[in-house]
Amino acid sequence: MKTPARILIVAALAVAVIGAVALKKGKTPVESKPAATAAGGEASKPAPATGAKVPKLIDLGADKCIPCKAMAPILEGLKKEYAGRFDVEFIDVWKNPDAGKQYGIEMIPTQIFYDASGKELFRHQGFFGKEDILGKWKELGVDISGGKAGAGIVREAPVAADTRPRESVCFMCDENVGTKTKTLVKGESEQRVLCSPHCYFIYFSSIVGADPKAAEAKVSVTDWASGNLVAATGATYLYGLDSKGRPTIKAFADKEAATKEQQASPGNLLAWDVLRSKELATRCAFCDRAVYPEDACGVKFGTTHGHGCCTHCSMGVAARLKQDIEVEAKDGLTGEIIRVKTLNGMVASLEPATAIAWFGQKKGPDGQWVSAGCFKQGFFVNEANLQKWLEARPAMTGRQITIAQALADKMKLTPEQIAKACKLGECK
Ligand SMILES: [Zn+2]
Ligand SMILES: [Zn+2]
Repeated sequence: MKTPARILIVAALAVAVIGAVALKKGKTPVESKPAATAAGGEASKPAPATGAKVPKLIDLGADKCIPCKAMAPILEGLKKEYAGRFDVEFIDVWKNPDAGKQYGIEMIPTQIFYDASGKELFRHQGFFGKEDILGKWKELGVDISGGKAGAGIVREAPVAADTRPRESVCFMCDENVGTKTKTLVKGESEQRVLCSPHCYFIYFSSIVGADPKAAEAKVSVTDWASGNLVAATGATYLYGLDSKGRPTIKAFADKEAATKEQQASPGNLLAWDVLRSKELATRCAFCDRAVYPEDACGVKFGTTHGHGCCTHCSMGVAARLKQDIEVEAKDGLTGEIIRVKTLNGMVASLEPATAIAWFGQKKGPDGQWVSAGCFKQGFFVNEANLQKWLEARPAMTGRQITIAQALADKMKLTPEQIAKACKLGECK
């Protein structure tokens, strides 16, 4: 009677099956059929939403399958958070093979979505993240908001225009340009004003195929002592650290003046070449921009610890490396830690569960909304923090999105788009 079962473990997005596990203990012959993820059809077997007048999600899996294990806390969370709005049931088909059989599943985990009348609407094979599940209900037209739906913050026009003169705003980071650290890059027709040598290196690492020698020949920095602009490559740099561990860079035309300043504010005196190699040593693992680890998100992939220059870039690391990642981001307002783990290009876990993302966008010349760049993105532990952060940034435009959406936006980029990510003029 031991018919080999054909329940497969889907470890990736339905297409990438990495393991096939025969159902040894289970005596259930489960008929193998071509992957059917669409609603209806022969796959809709039972109508198990018995008695319940709310929609229902059934997850068929096993307690020992890896993607199933990743789903367990998500299902538990949904069960609590959406109690009374939709039911969540987990069926272990290894322990309870007959149950698996009646649903006609081919792989575990499989999630089946039922409306309140018990009609099957959709089934999905493989790991399915929280936001993806919630998004699917929405797509299926099932209201699970329980009247609590927040549309999220959308700001299409600035609350107040940015009236700062252009030459006092950093081209890269949008901060005010201080008179003692102003850095200029001469272009063909116009010059870029940057707030510091650090923003120059971010700028430099955002240019496709930039030649450092050619680029830096056009750079002037402000002499800390006199306030005059001098050639960047000839200056001496007093390189210290602030209380957060971020480098502080003071440029001096005259080495003696640098040595004098060093007495008052300790640091090391560096020539431009050394400064350059330090500044370019740590890069965003998605877009390759220079970053300071103190400003960046921590991104762990495999045994490697890397950085994402912004929260959205950190999600992009999963897309660029086609790997599961763990991200440690800081709330844009308070610095509280937000942890995201991905699995197969979806959010597997999010702490705190209330965390959301801000997608800073601006209207392009063609009227399309495009990313406003890495400095305008952020994650927040909740919507209230985002609200406060926005209040302090009246010129900011964009929209609130879920962290799953921030990841999904990156996952759908082509390799060509990823290669150009965050390059000047190509903000993806
Ligand atoms: Zn800047
Ligand atoms: Zn980046």
